[in-house]
Amino acid sequence: MSKLTKRILIVGLGLIGGSLAKALRSRTICQTVIGYDRDQAELDTGLRLGVIDEAATDLMGAVENADVVVLAVPVKAMETVLAEMLPALRSETIITDVGSVKGNVVRAAEQLFGAVPENFIPGHPIAGSEKSGVAAADETLFEHHKVIITPLPESNPAAVTLIARLWQAVGAEVLQMDVERHDEVLAATSHLPHLLAFSLVDTLAQEQDRTDIFRYAAGGFRDFTRIAASDPTMWHDVGLANKSAILQKIDEFTEGLAQLRDAIETEDGRTMLGIFTRAKAAREHFSKILSGSAYSQVMNIKETTFHVQPGGQANGTIRVPGDKSISHRSIMLGSLASGVTEVSGFLEGEDSLATLQAFRDMGVVIEGPHQGEVKIYGVGVDGLQQAPGPLYVGNSGTTIRLLSGLLAGQKFDSELSGDASLSKRPMERVAKPLRLMGAVVDTGENGCPPVKIKGGQALKGMHYDMPIASAQVKSCVMLAGLYAEGETSVTEPAPTRDHTERMLRGFGYQVEKQDNKVTLSGGGSLQAGKIDVPADISSATFFMVAAAITPGSDITLEHVGINPTRIGVVNILKLMGTNIELLNEREVGGEPVADIRVRYAPLKGINIPEDQVPLAIDEFPALFIAAVCAEGETVLTGAEELRVKESDRIQAMVDGLKILGADIEGTPDGAIIRGSEMGGGVIESHDDHRIAMSFTIAGLRAKGEIEIRECANVSTSFPNFVELAQQVGINVRKEEL
Ligand code: NAP
Repeated sequence: MSKLTKRILIVGLGLIGGSLAKALRSRTICQTVIGYDRDQAELDTGLRLGVIDEAATDLMGAVENADVVVLAVPVKAMETVLAEMLPALRSETIITDVGSVKGNVVRAAEQLFGAVPENFIPGHPIAGSEKSGVAAADETLFEHHKVIITPLPESNPAAVTLIARLWQAVGAEVLQMDVERHDEVLAATSHLPHLLAFSLVDTLAQEQDRTDIFRYAAGGFRDFTRIAASDPTMWHDVGLANKSAILQKIDEFTEGLAQLRDAIETEDGRTMLGIFTRAKAAREHFSKILSGSAYSQVMNIKETTFHVQPGGQANGTIRVPGDKSISHRSIMLGSLASGVTEVSGFLEGEDSLATLQAFRDMGVVIEGPHQGEVKIYGVGVDGLQQAPGPLYVGNSGTTIRLLSGLLAGQKFDSELSGDASLSKRPMERVAKPLRLMGAVVDTGENGCPPVKIKGGQALKGMHYDMPIASAQVKSCVMLAGLYAEGETSVTEPAPTRDHTERMLRGFGYQVEKQDNKVTLSGGGSLQAGKIDVPADISSATFFMVAAAITPGSDITLEHVGINPTRIGVVNILKLMGTNIELLNEREVGGEPVADIRVRYAPLKGINIPEDQVPLAIDEFPALFIAAVCAEGETVLTGAEELRVKESDRIQAMVDGLKILGADIEGTPDGAIIRGSEMGGGVIESHDDHRIAMSFTIAGLRAKGEIEIRECANVSTSFPNFVELAQQVGINVRKEEL
């Protein structure tokens, strides 16, 4: 690369100074790297190890000839060194430092020079180790690490750019911050943990039986105290140089520790669990919080392809993952209930985890999720606390819209924000009715997130005639209604999912339903209970269709939610001749549930009744496969909404099925599908999980291998789809690149 500058002088050839010198040299970023150290032996080592080009023993002479000077001495020595080199400094020389505290260096420069010179650009690499001295110099130390530079308003922009480029050139990511903010942030993230480690080891080392303590010290002690082996001089200096910010953090920590001590003394398990579960969640999701993404495992961004061999079976008894809508609501209502709600079958998807985290942020103690089990220590309808910052809900539209209603009734202010795609979705449809109830709600640009809600408003019940059929809007208004004076009712222009009203009833809250109108009164309470989240009928659909199209099949899907607003697929498959039985019908937390047994019977084509279309809207990709395997013609109309789902599902299915040789025609609002044979081929799923899963089951009746591209999204809605498909006898294999 072309050189950034000519002569860089590193003052203090220790770990950081030496590592920077070595990295600059190895990447030939400047013409000459000169090292200055008061210890000749360190300079000799630096030369011998190839860390520097030249060693300087005369600081003044070296400074006079340098274009850039980097101060890499302990924080408290910065002032002395600056004073020493002052007479030799030229005004155009650019100075920077690597000190772990910035306020004291800036103050020292101010005192010495009268004002901070425009070419002095303070910096701090967030990289290091417990080692010290030039022998430990590592040219890769700063690669993929952050360096914070703290320029001042009077700093010379060209000098800021040069220092930033210098760090970038050694592989670092450069950030800018105010001096005070830097010292506050570092007090919390670096200084406090180091001081705690020193103090813990020192305290234990003074105990009588210390030999035993250290002999039996396990991994936890070793991990926690590794940094107590850091350089004492450096930390002495940091402690003094950042005194006020560190003292504040020590006080906050002492308060937190006292709270934990108190909880242990009084055997207050709930407070203890609260501290531990919040900490565990925060620790696990650090990187996601930092990257601004939501809360589940890192999304599978690998290129995923499914390979399906022809033939196979669909037999056995399985349980598919829990319903997403109900998973969300179990956390919300469980948090508002009195008592402990135990949830099983919770869908551990990104969206429902965002809801869970939001309630943790509002002070609710929630254990889990662990294999679908969640325990919520309800705080009562009025027990939520203000979150420490905005509630980040990732990509979850359900969370942001339902929470808007719930938060409108709280005593505290709230802000809800989401990822880039959620930030483009309309929020006024919930803000408007909430304002009619007396809530103070602001939305961002174009009525999109963030949603800002002012607390402490007295809400009034109202009747709301919903202009569009939306379960989210209806739920939002009803949740605000819990906090409103008098009755709140909503009428819907067409039936929408009714999970909220059902679960409210399941928690003992009175909700009236008459025709298309739901009504509740504010001021009631919810009683905790057990919720076994029904399996998602949309996920179960793939296995229902698998059994329906495969001669000899007999499959039972356990504990599936058969909410009347979701049951279209069962009705349609029955009309086509499938042998479906709903066994063991029961009610769980207000939701109807059954085990669904499907056995093969020859299928016939039908005209799908339009009144069933909204009740099966997510199920059509799989139903298209059933239609290809039926005798005669199946006609779907009134389903234009399919064209604006995760993909244009009509087009994606028509294109894919044609590749397999099926007889299908797309229409603007549906398709005409004739019973036909399917061969093999390569299918694009367009990143749409339902398209990918539908073509997987097509393999049961196809004559050749089907390769399905872009299947990574399957794992977000149905994490164990491939495993369950293999378990029932489908010959599918997942390939990740
Ligand atoms: P180090 O390995 O101990 O090196 C310190 C260097 O400063 C040595 O060359 C030492 O000279 C010199 N020095 C010490 N006191 C001096 C004085 N009064 N006058 C002149 N020179 C003096 O320490 P380091 O880890 O590189 O730390 C250097 C700076 O980097 C510190 O400001 C520290 O806050 C910052 N920093 C450290 C880390 C880390 O993890 N270590 C991370 C980020 C930033 P001798 O050879 O004579 O001892």
